[in-house]
Amino acid sequence: MTRVLVVEDDPQLARALVINLQARKYEVDAAHDGITALQFAAEQQPDVVLLDLGLPDTDGIEVIRRLRGWSRVPVLVLSARNGSEDKVHALDVGADDYMTKPFSMDELLARLRAATRRRETVPPAPENAVVTTDDFIVDLVAKKARRGDFDVRLTPTEWHLLEILITNPGRLVSQRRLLQEVWGPSQSDKTHYLRVYMAQLRRKLEADPAHPRYLITEPGMGYRFET
Ligand code: CA
Repeated sequence: MTRVLVVEDDPQLARALVINLQARKYEVDAAHDGITALQFAAEQQPDVVLLDLGLPDTDGIEVIRRLRGWSRVPVLVLSARNGSEDKVHALDVGADDYMTKPFSMDELLARLRAATRRRETVPPAPENAVVTTDDFIVDLVAKKARRGDFDVRLTPTEWHLLEILITNPGRLVSQRRLLQEVWGPSQSDKTHYLRVYMAQLRRKLEADPAHPRYLITEPGMGYRFET
């Protein structure tokens, strides 16, 4: 059975979606804000997410960005905003499709079928929101890191870097990609930023920062997270 997570703060629309989807034999969970949506996405592992952009707590764009830190579940955005800038932004951060309200239920169902079909052809991604090593634990949903009995405080930049490396375990991530994703396209030659921030991350997470076991440098190329 296909499991759909409906993220919509308008109670009437949420109810209509739930009823229509259940009538078509979908298994449906509904969240009315962004934080609950991220929790449900991690716990229920939906096959597809229907996401409203205007939510009471976090913006839907931020929900997609955070979700994409650890999940490749298809995201179909439902929004009253119909400017193309919003669409491009939603797609850029990782949404799969976009529908402008009001929409017809038939069209929604067709797009939903297309999104779940695409998913079946994509190899499964690691859906592990919590990454555990011998020395530290990183929870990508709660954005928390612990070393032994202590919480590790990371800055947003450190998080962003760590998130990219951890979601590509064992894979070499190029300096250029890290710089572009964390600092922006115009900063792709600032490799000294990476050296500074990687040193900070190692100090905070590695047992022996001078001889890192998890956050590995590939000289002149990039970095790798080893588990
Ligand atoms: Ca809304």
